[in-house]
Amino acid sequence: MPNVHELIHHYGGNWNRSRGSDYLDIVNPATAEKLGRVPLGSREDVDATVRAAAEAYPTWRRTPPEDRIQYLFKLKRLLEDHLEELARICTTENGKTLGESRGELRRAIENVEVACGIPTLMQGYNLEDVASGIDEIMIRQPLGVTVAITPFNFPAMIPFWFLPYAIACGNTFILKPSEKVPLTAQRTFEIIEELKLPPGVLNLLHGGKAVVNGLLEHPDVRAVSFVGSTPIAKYIYAQAASYGKRVQCQGGAKNHVLILPDADLETATKIVSDSAFGCAGQRCLAVSVAVTVGDAQKRFTDEISKLAGSMRVGNGLDSDVQMGPVINRESKTRIEGLIAKGASDGGKVLLDGRSRKGSGNHAGNFLEPTLLDNVPPESALTTTEIFGPVLSLIHATTLDEGIEILSRSPFGNMASIFTSSGAAARKFRYEVPAGNIGVNIGVAAPMAYFPFSGWRDSFLGVLHGQGRDAIEFYTDKKVVIERWPKEWSRKF
Ligand code: NAD
Repeated sequence: MPNVHELIHHYGGNWNRSRGSDYLDIVNPATAEKLGRVPLGSREDVDATVRAAAEAYPTWRRTPPEDRIQYLFKLKRLLEDHLEELARICTTENGKTLGESRGELRRAIENVEVACGIPTLMQGYNLEDVASGIDEIMIRQPLGVTVAITPFNFPAMIPFWFLPYAIACGNTFILKPSEKVPLTAQRTFEIIEELKLPPGVLNLLHGGKAVVNGLLEHPDVRAVSFVGSTPIAKYIYAQAASYGKRVQCQGGAKNHVLILPDADLETATKIVSDSAFGCAGQRCLAVSVAVTVGDAQKRFTDEISKLAGSMRVGNGLDSDVQMGPVINRESKTRIEGLIAKGASDGGKVLLDGRSRKGSGNHAGNFLEPTLLDNVPPESALTTTEIFGPVLSLIHATTLDEGIEILSRSPFGNMASIFTSSGAAARKFRYEVPAGNIGVNIGVAAPMAYFPFSGWRDSFLGVLHGQGRDAIEFYTDKKVVIERWPKEWSRKF
């Protein structure tokens, strides 16, 4: 068993202490309590982990898909059994509420369930007689050693956008979790030990930038999946590609919602409030800008101010809390700076989350829901990703103007519309340049059997995480063209 206070890697079927000397403190964002230390890793750690994954690959690849998925059925059961425990760890290191942690674990499990369909999903196709007596077959084969580098905001779910598909397809896999929240992954790998997978099929490598660079440059790594901020996504995309890897990078976001006057405003306000302030605004699908159209302006502004102002902020482990802290001090300071900038750029502060009024532990990184009205479109508050509990309100006179405003964003992760008009919804779906579209939905998070889309600066690559895209990403296509003239065969 690893020492929970000083995390260690898991590769080749064993727990292995880091060969590097740099460590980072893991801190509970609600209490500032130190939870442990995570190694930042070294090139030796990278080499040893990739070697273990590469050695496991030939045998794992030859293991029948039907046998591979038996481990996943067992993994689903184990995750169900440990759901409550993992949710508490997730909340403790990330700050989100227990309900939100349980929700992300359900999404993780859903991906395991989908990957259990690999014997069907991984099938190729064929056609007889492409020319007389010649048949053509497309076969999918795994790639080899695959890697996922994941962010802090969904410590339990995001690794599972990749892990189950990678190994179900016959690859071996290395998870490099966020160094800000490594405890959920650590406990998950302790649980994974119970699967008794062949050593090296699943590996956990902690670390930061040096470890990521080591993985990107390693000749035995075939594919890299990344989820995180856009600047790092762009760096990883270019760097991994320059080393010849297959790569998919999900980046940051600035999600807009359009509220039409014909929407059910009571429902819309509740949903938008949850989207903007749930997980303290640290969802990549959080609404950050609400654009009201025409008459929706006054009612929506009044309603959302009331709702946001009544949210209970505190330690996510407390059952009555609706919103936890942001991840760390730097993040809190950065968000406070952006709020100040929005106000100095001319935005009217309707609710100021910087002046915390709620009770609780003040050592934590708490901000309360913040609302700014009429923020100029060119203000940094409207153009940059905030990743905190801040909602900007902008007003438009028509649907076209609203669509125009949100189309200006360089990001394209999610956009939603609230309306009772099918024609408006269709126009929105048709025209808006974002990968995940919500119609009367606040967090348009695709189920595991659909790709987690994302466009523009929110995604670099072709194939997304989850669903059929994941099967495409984790396999190479091989085409076989065969001729077997009967005169070459013995007569039977
Ligand atoms: P981040 O970019 O700081 O870190 C993500 C990962 O990259 C971590 O594992 C980290 O160790 C590594 N990393 C960080 N800096 C690096 C560097 N200089 N070189 C190499 N590797 C580096 O992101 P974060 O703060 O952990 O997560 C929040 C971000 O993730 C937000 O921008 C959010 O929108 C985004 N996100 C996007 C999606 C999506 O589906 N598009 C989902 C979740 C989160």
